Amino acid sequence: MSNILVTGGAGYIGSHACKALKAAGYTPVTFDNLVTGWQDAVKFGPFEQGDLLDRARLDEVFAKYQPQAVMHFAALSQVGEAMAEPGKYWRNNVSGSLTLIESAVEAGCLDFVFSSTCATYGDHDNVVLDEDTPQHPLNSYGASKRAIEDILRDFEAAHGLRHVIFRYFNVAGADPEAEVGEFHRPETHLVPLMLDAIEGKRDALTVFGTDYDTPDGTCIRDYVHVCDLVDAHVLGLNWLEQGKGSRVFNLGTGSGFSVREVLDHSRAVTNREVPHVIGPRRGGDCTKLVSGSVRAARELGWTPRRSTLAEMIADAWRWHQSGHYDR
Ligand code: UDP
Repeated sequence: MSNILVTGGAGYIGSHACKALKAAGYTPVTFDNLVTGWQDAVKFGPFEQGDLLDRARLDEVFAKYQPQAVMHFAALSQVGEAMAEPGKYWRNNVSGSLTLIESAVEAGCLDFVFSSTCATYGDHDNVVLDEDTPQHPLNSYGASKRAIEDILRDFEAAHGLRHVIFRYFNVAGADPEAEVGEFHRPETHLVPLMLDAIEGKRDALTVFGTDYDTPDGTCIRDYVHVCDLVDAHVLGLNWLEQGKGSRVFNLGTGSGFSVREVLDHSRAVTNREVPHVIGPRRGGDCTKLVSGSVRAARELGWTPRRSTLAEMIADAWRWHQSGHYDR
């Protein structure tokens, strides 16, 4: 069985990717520093603790497992924190990724799947966001991801590093079997915060801004189920195995929902009120991020199966109530 090095395999998306990789016949080797990840989320393959900035440790892990490919999820990913502490994002995300890429190239591991983000696009009024849309990120998180995309292109030109870049829209939901799910501390993402508020585990949700230029004044996002998202990664790995060359893919459904609409769906799915208050805008937030591309469907054969808002919230709700969530 082929080993795949999964950085951030103890995190939300990485742990779901490990489950999908195992189901597809690969051995996912998690590399994670456990700063934002959880060791009990590593259930589907070996675990190696380490930091992306530690080149010697990375070299050791590449030598031990000789992975066929890297799936690189490990990153800091909070917009608010990125605005307040940009240095942390440049150091961890960019320097860490550069160290990983150099170690992979030296080990001869030349297939690389990278988690990028629609936050690299920034605000574009009435423009369909496809993979050719100019990237003008509004925050250091998006800027750090765009920089890593550039590094990958340079390393392809110089060293033949083949890569698939996935620009995620908003990831939500959880494994329907509730073996893994979303769990950040601190939590900053809309769906888990709403479910926490419903359960009284935290204060009311603050809606960040109702004065955006959208029909109901709240920001619009394109939500994609984490299981659909990681299925695309397995397809991306197959794409590289088939020698198809480096490619960028948006991963979104093409449907946008406002914060108020997500609140309404949460109420409908859980049959409970969502305690919430209206607050000011959060710095660095784009008005609307919705994918306008069908490239992943057309070229990878990717079909989102669980990405209705109702299913994402229902799966997240099941995970919240599974007992695993209360670490
Ligand atoms: N949001 C909100 N209150 C919160 C967290 C998020 O109103 O406590 C909004 C946020 O402004 C954005 C959307 O929900 O419009 C999704 O935010 P999230 O942090 O989940 O993902 P992001 O879009 O930043 O990747």
